[in-house]
Amino acid sequence: MNLVVQKYGGSSLADAERMRYVAARVADRRARGHALVVVVSAMGDTTDALIALARQVTDHPEDREMDLLLATGEVVSCTLLAMALRAQGVPARSFTGAQAGILTDRVHGRARILRIKPARIWQALEQQEVAIVAGFQGITAGTDITTLGRGGSDTTAVALAAALGAPMCEIYTDVEGVFTCDPRLEPRARRLPEISYEEMLEMASQGARVMHPRAVELGAIYGVPILVASSFTDAPGTIIHGASAMEPTNKVRGISHDMDVAKVTALGLPDRPGVAARLFAALEAAHVAADAIVQNASVHGPETDLTFTVRKDDLQRAVAAVEPALAAVGARGLQTNEALGKVSIVGTGVLNTPGYAARMFRTLSEAGINIELITTSEIRITCMVDRDRVPEAVRALHAAFELERPEALGT
Ligand code: ASP
Ligand code: MG
Repeated sequence: MNLVVQKYGGSSLADAERMRYVAARVADRRARGHALVVVVSAMGDTTDALIALARQVTDHPEDREMDLLLATGEVVSCTLLAMALRAQGVPARSFTGAQAGILTDRVHGRARILRIKPARIWQALEQQEVAIVAGFQGITAGTDITTLGRGGSDTTAVALAAALGAPMCEIYTDVEGVFTCDPRLEPRARRLPEISYEEMLEMASQGARVMHPRAVELGAIYGVPILVASSFTDAPGTIIHGASAMEPTNKVRGISHDMDVAKVTALGLPDRPGVAARLFAALEAAHVAADAIVQNASVHGPETDLTFTVRKDDLQRAVAAVEPALAAVGARGLQTNEALGKVSIVGTGVLNTPGYAARMFRTLSEAGINIELITTSEIRITCMVDRDRVPEAVRALHAAFELERPEALGT
């Protein structure tokens, strides 16, 4: 059937003119013989506006009401795009997430997709219609509407591509693809023609905002290649896919950064079983996710320090959650720093290649930037630094790893 699943982000659908432009792109693609399923985000800043509206009504909106409210943003987009397509002579039909058969768990605000029953989508496609699907939402077994978390339309698109067996999922946004670092910080940043799921996942979860990490994860699990490209131009974009070469390139592919990190250090914790468990149970109960977690070896007697990082917005909740636990275990105190950011170098083989860590730390030291905390994965090294120094750190690392130069191998 030559099926393709596309997704257009909020800025690509910001007003009627952009909507007509996207409709024309979809129409053009269909004229070239493709069957299309198009997933849409809410127009422009609609989701933020709806959240602000709820806050004007109450400080504590119920999760269920919030989800039903936010889901309307994407419903507006999908109906208007269907109308715009029909106005251009293209048969199209809009569907809410529920109508598209997207079944989720009951965790409002960050629901997970359990199953997709796309009967109505197939029906539309069989009738030669373009199926337009409201992103970011689904329905529970109990018929409550849920949302998938901010940026969740990417996840809808990749999940639908997997469920429909589409050979490719195309994500159209306001940037031209995945870059070696944020081009707003470093104009010499290069677009990567391709990147592996693993590398993209590390980039996305370490702050690169182009794609929702859960969508990348789904792409990897179901083997759906994802194209990220601009809806504003015809530039080629970046393809996220499985390993393309036998031997990984052993090279830093990109630098990601995040400006919203806070650090919590619990001082003088008794060094015995159950202390960390207690602390993190408290965080779990407060729904706070810790990112980096580091516990020191206790060298001075039976005491240890434990540091973890959270999103800046979560700091107050994290402190409120762990304070009673710390008092209960007899910790000596608590220190916080909410003015941190992180920079990461990402690339297959980074940790297995001697020299990358040294070069990263040397580069930061030469720039006079102090490292607060270091964490690693097999394909990433991350340093927490003062938030104010993050842009400088990104630029220095981009230069040190020569990312402005096109790659010699592979791509
Ligand atoms: N409209 C939602 C948001 O702004 C979902 C999305 O755009 O993917 O987070
Ligand atoms: Mg959005």
